[in-house]
Amino acid sequence: MKIAILSRNASLYSTRRLKEAGEERGHEIRVIDYLRCYMNIAAHKPKVIYQGEDLEGFDAIIPRIGASQTFYGCAVVRQFEVMDVFSANESQAISRSRDKLRCLQILARQGIGLPVTGFAHSTKDIDGLLETVGGAPVVIKLLEGTQGIGVVLAETTQAATSVIEAFRGLDANILVQEFIKEAKGMDIRCFVVGDRVIASMKRQGAPGEFRSNIHRGGSAVKIKLTPEERSTATRAAKAMGLRVAGVDILRSNHGPVVMEVNSSPGLEGIETSTEVDVAGKIIDFLGKNAEPGKTRDRIK
Ligand code: ADP
Ligand code: GLU
Repeated sequence: MKIAILSRNASLYSTRRLKEAGEERGHEIRVIDYLRCYMNIAAHKPKVIYQGEDLEGFDAIIPRIGASQTFYGCAVVRQFEVMDVFSANESQAISRSRDKLRCLQILARQGIGLPVTGFAHSTKDIDGLLETVGGAPVVIKLLEGTQGIGVVLAETTQAATSVIEAFRGLDANILVQEFIKEAKGMDIRCFVVGDRVIASMKRQGAPGEFRSNIHRGGSAVKIKLTPEERSTATRAAKAMGLRVAGVDILRSNHGPVVMEVNSSPGLEGIETSTEVDVAGKIIDFLGKNAEPGKTRDRIK
Protein backbone atom coordinates (compact mmCIF):
# COMPACT_ATOMS: atom_id res chain seq x y z
CA MET A 1 0.00 0.00 0.00
CA LYS A 2 0.92 3.61 -0.41
CA ILE A 3 0.13 5.52 2.78
CA ALA A 4 0.47 9.21 3.62
CA ILE A 5 0.90 10.33 7.21
CA LEU A 6 -0.42 13.87 7.49
CA SER A 7 1.86 15.35 10.12
CA ARG A 8 3.62 18.67 10.59
CA ASN A 9 6.78 17.09 11.88
CA ALA A 10 8.42 13.85 10.69
CA SER A 11 10.57 13.66 13.82
CA LEU A 12 7.67 13.39 16.29
CA TYR A 13 7.61 10.02 18.06
CA SER A 14 4.13 9.05 16.77
CA THR A 15 4.95 10.00 13.18
CA ARG A 16 8.28 8.17 13.26
CA ARG A 17 6.73 5.02 14.70
CA LEU A 18 3.90 4.94 12.16
CA LYS A 19 6.40 5.34 9.30
CA GLU A 20 8.63 2.63 10.75
CA ALA A 21 5.74 0.20 11.31
CA GLY A 22 4.45 0.80 7.78
CA GLU A 23 7.85 0.23 6.20
CA GLU A 24 8.43 -2.91 8.27
CA ARG A 25 5.28 -4.28 6.68
CA GLY A 26 6.48 -3.48 3.17
CA HIS A 27 4.31 -0.40 2.55
CA GLU A 28 5.40 2.85 0.94
CA ILE A 29 5.04 5.61 3.54
CA ARG A 30 5.23 9.36 2.95
CA VAL A 31 5.12 11.98 5.69
CA ILE A 32 3.24 15.01 4.36
CA ASP A 33 3.05 18.40 6.10
CA TYR A 34 -0.64 19.11 5.61
CA LEU A 35 -0.11 22.86 5.99
CA ARG A 36 1.99 22.69 2.82
CA CYS A 37 -0.78 20.94 0.87
CA TYR A 38 -2.97 23.01 -1.40
CA MET A 39 -5.96 21.91 -3.34
CA ASN A 40 -7.84 22.31 -6.51
CA ILE A 41 -11.46 22.16 -5.53
CA ALA A 42 -13.37 23.20 -8.63
CA ALA A 43 -11.71 20.89 -11.14
CA HIS A 44 -13.56 17.77 -12.30
CA LYS A 45 -10.51 15.90 -11.12
CA PRO A 46 -9.97 16.83 -7.46
CA LYS A 47 -6.34 17.11 -6.40
CA VAL A 48 -4.08 17.67 -3.45
CA ILE A 49 -0.83 19.36 -4.41
CA TYR A 50 2.18 19.18 -2.10
CA GLN A 51 5.03 21.56 -2.76
CA GLY A 52 4.20 21.48 -6.48
CA GLU A 53 3.66 17.69 -6.69
CA ASP A 54 0.26 16.07 -7.34
CA LEU A 55 -0.38 13.55 -4.58
CA GLU A 56 -1.73 10.57 -6.45
CA GLY A 57 -2.16 6.86 -6.00
CA PHE A 58 -2.52 6.78 -2.20
CA ASP A 59 -4.47 3.89 -0.67
CA ALA A 60 -4.81 5.48 2.75
CA ILE A 61 -3.98 8.49 4.86
CA ILE A 62 -3.30 8.71 8.59
CA PRO A 63 -4.22 12.21 9.78
CA ARG A 64 -2.24 13.51 12.76
CA ILE A 65 -3.88 16.92 12.93
CA GLY A 66 -2.78 19.28 15.70
CA ALA A 67 -5.51 20.83 17.83
CA SER A 68 -4.58 24.32 16.65
CA GLN A 69 -4.75 23.35 12.96
CA THR A 70 -8.10 21.56 12.93
CA PHE A 71 -9.68 23.79 10.29
CA TYR A 72 -7.05 23.50 7.57
CA GLY A 73 -6.06 19.96 8.51
CA CYS A 74 -9.65 18.75 8.16
CA ALA A 75 -9.96 20.52 4.80
CA VAL A 76 -6.97 18.52 3.52
CA VAL A 77 -8.38 15.25 4.90
CA ARG A 78 -11.74 16.04 3.27
CA GLN A 79 -10.07 16.61 -0.07
CA PHE A 80 -8.48 13.14 0.11
CA GLU A 81 -11.94 11.77 0.92
CA VAL A 82 -13.33 13.46 -2.21
CA MET A 83 -10.54 11.65 -4.08
CA ASP A 84 -11.85 8.37 -2.57
CA VAL A 85 -8.77 7.79 -0.41
CA PHE A 86 -9.44 5.87 2.83
CA SER A 87 -8.65 7.84 5.97
CA ALA A 88 -7.79 6.25 9.32
CA ASN A 89 -10.06 8.96 10.76
CA GLU A 90 -12.49 10.94 8.66
CA SER A 91 -12.56 14.73 8.56
CA GLN A 92 -16.04 14.99 10.09
CA ALA A 93 -15.13 12.75 12.99
CA ILE A 94 -11.95 14.72 13.66
CA SER A 95 -13.70 18.08 13.71
CA ARG A 96 -16.53 16.67 15.84
CA SER A 97 -14.01 15.38 18.40
CA ARG A 98 -12.37 18.80 18.75
CA ASP A 99 -15.41 20.29 20.46
CA LYS A 100 -15.58 18.91 24.02
CA LEU A 101 -19.19 19.90 24.54
CA ARG A 102 -20.39 18.44 21.25
CA CYS A 103 -18.43 15.31 22.07
CA LEU A 104 -20.25 14.91 25.41
CA GLN A 105 -23.62 15.55 23.76
CA ILE A 106 -23.00 12.83 21.17
CA LEU A 107 -21.87 10.36 23.86
CA ALA A 108 -24.87 11.19 26.05
CA ARG A 109 -27.22 10.44 23.19
CA GLN A 110 -25.71 6.95 22.98
CA GLY A 111 -26.21 6.38 26.70
CA ILE A 112 -22.47 6.25 27.45
CA GLY A 113 -21.46 6.99 31.07
CA LEU A 114 -20.30 10.59 31.58
CA PRO A 115 -19.50 12.82 34.53
CA VAL A 116 -22.61 14.91 35.26
CA THR A 117 -21.85 18.01 33.22
CA GLY A 118 -23.42 21.46 32.89
CA PHE A 119 -22.92 24.29 30.46
CA ALA A 120 -24.30 27.82 30.49
CA HIS A 121 -23.74 31.11 28.77
CA SER A 122 -24.75 33.70 31.33
CA THR A 123 -23.19 34.26 34.75
CA LYS A 124 -26.76 34.94 35.93
CA ASP A 125 -27.28 31.19 35.69
CA ILE A 126 -24.34 30.08 37.85
CA ASP A 127 -26.48 29.02 40.80
CA GLY A 128 -28.74 26.92 38.61
CA LEU A 129 -25.74 25.48 36.79
CA LEU A 130 -24.05 24.40 40.01
CA GLU A 131 -27.28 22.88 41.21
CA THR A 132 -27.68 20.76 38.05
CA VAL A 133 -24.29 19.12 38.64
CA GLY A 134 -24.98 18.48 42.32
CA GLY A 135 -23.13 21.46 43.84
CA ALA A 136 -19.50 21.88 44.97
CA PRO A 137 -16.93 20.40 44.74
CA VAL A 138 -16.94 20.77 40.95
CA VAL A 139 -14.40 20.67 38.16
CA ILE A 140 -14.48 23.67 35.82
CA LYS A 141 -12.99 23.29 32.34
CA LEU A 142 -12.15 25.68 29.58
CA LEU A 143 -13.69 24.23 26.42
CA GLU A 144 -10.58 25.10 24.44
CA GLY A 145 -8.06 23.71 26.97
CA THR A 146 -5.62 20.82 26.48
CA GLN A 147 -3.01 19.06 28.59
CA GLY A 148 -4.86 19.85 31.79
CA ILE A 149 -4.42 23.61 31.44
CA GLY A 150 -7.69 25.36 32.18
CA VAL A 151 -9.01 22.49 34.36
CA VAL A 152 -9.75 23.75 37.88
CA LEU A 153 -11.10 22.03 40.98
CA ALA A 154 -13.39 24.32 42.99
CA GLU A 155 -14.03 22.89 46.45
CA THR A 156 -16.75 25.30 47.54
CA THR A 157 -19.72 27.06 45.94
CA GLN A 158 -17.99 30.37 46.56
CA ALA A 159 -14.79 29.29 44.83
CA ALA A 160 -16.79 27.80 41.94
CA THR A 161 -18.76 31.02 41.50
CA SER A 162 -15.58 33.16 41.42
CA VAL A 163 -13.81 30.90 38.94
CA ILE A 164 -16.84 30.74 36.63
CA GLU A 165 -17.25 34.53 36.80
CA ALA A 166 -13.56 35.03 36.04
CA PHE A 167 -13.57 32.71 33.02
CA ARG A 168 -16.83 34.14 31.70
CA GLY A 169 -15.48 37.66 32.22
CA LEU A 170 -12.76 36.74 29.73
CA ASP A 171 -15.48 35.46 27.41
CA ALA A 172 -14.17 31.89 27.71
CA ASN A 173 -16.53 28.96 27.23
CA ILE A 174 -16.50 26.56 30.14
CA LEU A 175 -18.18 23.44 31.30
CA VAL A 176 -18.82 22.47 34.89
CA GLN A 177 -18.62 18.85 36.03
CA GLU A 178 -19.21 16.83 39.13
CA PHE A 179 -15.83 16.10 40.74
CA ILE A 180 -15.12 12.36 40.58
CA LYS A 181 -13.23 12.26 43.86
CA GLU A 182 -13.03 8.47 43.97
CA ALA A 183 -10.81 8.50 40.84
CA LYS A 184 -8.06 9.79 43.19
CA GLY A 185 -6.15 11.59 40.47
CA MET A 186 -6.11 8.52 38.20
CA ASP A 187 -7.51 8.28 34.70
CA ILE A 188 -7.38 5.56 32.07
CA ARG A 189 -6.39 6.05 28.45
CA CYS A 190 -7.94 3.38 26.23
CA PHE A 191 -6.41 3.20 22.78
CA VAL A 192 -9.05 2.06 20.30
CA VAL A 193 -8.29 0.81 16.79
CA GLY A 194 -11.26 -0.35 14.72
CA ASP A 195 -13.71 -1.86 17.18
CA ARG A 196 -11.19 -2.99 19.79
CA VAL A 197 -9.18 -1.55 22.66
CA ILE A 198 -5.64 -2.57 21.69
CA ALA A 199 -3.79 -1.03 24.66
CA SER A 200 -4.64 0.76 27.89
CA MET A 201 -2.68 2.62 30.54
CA LYS A 202 -3.53 4.37 33.75
CA ARG A 203 -2.17 7.78 34.45
CA GLN A 204 -1.72 8.91 38.01
CA GLY A 205 -1.36 12.57 38.93
CA ALA A 206 1.59 13.86 40.93
CA PRO A 207 0.95 13.74 44.72
CA GLY A 208 -1.76 16.23 45.71
CA GLU A 209 -2.77 16.78 42.06
CA PHE A 210 -6.23 15.73 40.85
CA ARG A 211 -5.21 16.05 37.19
CA SER A 212 -3.44 12.98 35.81
CA ASN A 213 -1.93 14.63 32.72
CA ILE A 214 1.69 13.61 32.04
CA HIS A 215 2.32 17.30 31.22
CA ARG A 216 1.27 18.08 34.80
CA GLY A 217 3.78 15.62 36.28
CA GLY A 218 1.63 12.47 36.10
CA SER A 219 3.04 9.00 35.37
CA ALA A 220 1.70 6.10 33.29
CA VAL A 221 1.64 2.31 33.66
CA LYS A 222 -0.35 -0.35 31.84
CA ILE A 223 -3.67 -1.45 33.29
CA LYS A 224 -6.13 -4.26 32.70
CA LEU A 225 -9.60 -3.00 31.87
CA THR A 226 -12.88 -4.42 33.10
CA PRO A 227 -15.23 -5.65 30.35
CA GLU A 228 -17.48 -2.64 31.08
CA GLU A 229 -14.58 -0.21 30.59
CA ARG A 230 -13.60 -1.96 27.38
CA SER A 231 -17.09 -1.69 25.94
CA THR A 232 -17.48 1.92 27.11
CA ALA A 233 -14.29 2.86 25.23
CA THR A 234 -15.21 1.10 21.99
CA ARG A 235 -18.76 2.45 22.07
CA ALA A 236 -17.45 5.98 22.64
CA ALA A 237 -15.07 5.77 19.66
CA LYS A 238 -17.86 4.36 17.52
CA ALA A 239 -20.33 7.08 18.57
CA MET A 240 -17.77 9.68 17.53
CA GLY A 241 -17.19 7.92 14.21
CA LEU A 242 -13.49 7.45 14.99
CA ARG A 243 -11.57 4.36 13.89
CA VAL A 244 -8.47 5.38 15.83
CA ALA A 245 -9.13 7.06 19.15
CA GLY A 246 -7.78 7.68 22.62
CA VAL A 247 -10.70 7.42 25.02
CA ASP A 248 -10.08 8.86 28.49
CA ILE A 249 -12.08 7.27 31.28
CA LEU A 250 -12.44 7.84 35.03
CA ARG A 251 -13.45 5.10 37.47
CA SER A 252 -16.44 6.58 39.26
CA ASN A 253 -18.90 5.22 41.83
CA HIS A 254 -21.45 5.05 39.03
CA GLY A 255 -19.19 3.04 36.69
CA PRO A 256 -16.74 4.14 34.01
CA VAL A 257 -17.30 7.71 32.77
CA VAL A 258 -15.80 9.13 29.59
CA MET A 259 -14.08 12.50 29.88
CA GLU A 260 -12.73 12.90 26.41
CA VAL A 261 -12.25 11.19 23.06
CA ASN A 262 -9.07 12.16 21.24
CA SER A 263 -8.75 11.74 17.46
CA SER A 264 -4.93 12.04 17.25
CA PRO A 265 -3.86 10.15 20.37
CA GLY A 266 -0.10 10.16 20.97
CA LEU A 267 1.79 6.86 20.72
CA GLU A 268 4.78 7.45 22.96
CA GLY A 269 3.18 7.11 26.41
CA ILE A 270 1.00 4.17 25.47
CA GLU A 271 3.72 2.21 23.61
CA THR A 272 6.27 2.83 26.36
CA SER A 273 3.99 1.88 29.24
CA THR A 274 2.28 -1.12 27.62
CA GLU A 275 4.97 -2.39 25.19
CA VAL A 276 2.20 -2.88 22.62
CA ASP A 277 3.14 -2.11 19.00
CA VAL A 278 0.33 0.44 18.65
CA ALA A 279 1.72 1.87 15.40
CA GLY A 280 1.77 -1.65 13.92
CA LYS A 281 -1.85 -2.23 14.95
CA ILE A 282 -2.91 0.97 13.15
CA ILE A 283 -1.04 -0.04 9.98
CA ASP A 284 -2.50 -3.58 10.15
CA PHE A 285 -5.97 -2.07 10.50
CA LEU A 286 -5.41 -0.03 7.33
CA GLY A 287 -4.09 -3.13 5.58
CA LYS A 288 -7.36 -4.92 6.31
CA ASN A 289 -9.80 -2.04 5.81
CA ALA A 290 -8.43 0.57 3.42
CA GLU A 291 -10.43 0.40 0.24
CA PRO A 292 -11.30 3.28 -2.07
CA GLY A 293 -14.71 4.86 -1.54
CA LYS A 294 -15.24 3.60 2.01
CA THR A 295 -15.68 7.09 3.46
CA ARG A 296 -18.77 7.04 5.68
CA ASP A 297 -19.51 10.75 6.04
CA ARG A 298 -19.64 11.43 2.33
CA ILE A 299 -19.71 14.96 0.99
CA LYS A 300 -20.45 14.06 -2.60
P1 ADP B 1 -7.40 18.03 29.15
O1 ADP B 1 -8.12 17.74 27.89
O2 ADP B 1 -6.88 19.43 29.25
O3 ADP B 1 -6.42 16.98 29.54
P2 ADP B 1 -9.28 16.81 30.93
O4 ADP B 1 -10.72 17.10 30.84
O5 ADP B 1 -8.80 15.52 30.36
O6 ADP B 1 -8.50 18.03 30.29
O7 ADP B 1 -8.85 16.91 32.46
C1 ADP B 1 -7.49 16.80 32.90
C2 ADP B 1 -7.38 15.81 34.05
O8 ADP B 1 -8.13 16.26 35.19
C3 ADP B 1 -7.97 14.44 33.72
O9 ADP B 1 -7.01 13.63 33.08
C4 ADP B 1 -8.39 13.92 35.08
O10 ADP B 1 -7.32 13.28 35.73
C5 ADP B 1 -8.77 15.18 35.82
N1 ADP B 1 -10.24 15.39 35.77
C6 ADP B 1 -10.90 15.96 34.73
N2 ADP B 1 -12.23 16.00 34.96
C7 ADP B 1 -12.43 15.45 36.16
C8 ADP B 1 -13.60 15.20 36.98
N3 ADP B 1 -14.81 15.57 36.56
N4 ADP B 1 -13.41 14.61 38.18
C9 ADP B 1 -12.18 14.24 38.59
N5 ADP B 1 -11.05 14.46 37.88
C10 ADP B 1 -11.16 15.05 36.69
N1 GLU C 1 -25.67 12.32 13.64
C1 GLU C 1 -24.38 12.90 13.46
C2 GLU C 1 -23.56 12.08 12.54
O1 GLU C 1 -23.07 11.04 12.92
C3 GLU C 1 -23.55 12.90 14.70
C4 GLU C 1 -23.64 14.11 15.49
C5 GLU C 1 -22.76 15.22 15.06
O2 GLU C 1 -21.86 15.08 14.24
O3 GLU C 1 -23.01 16.28 15.64
O4 GLU C 1 -23.36 12.46 11.39
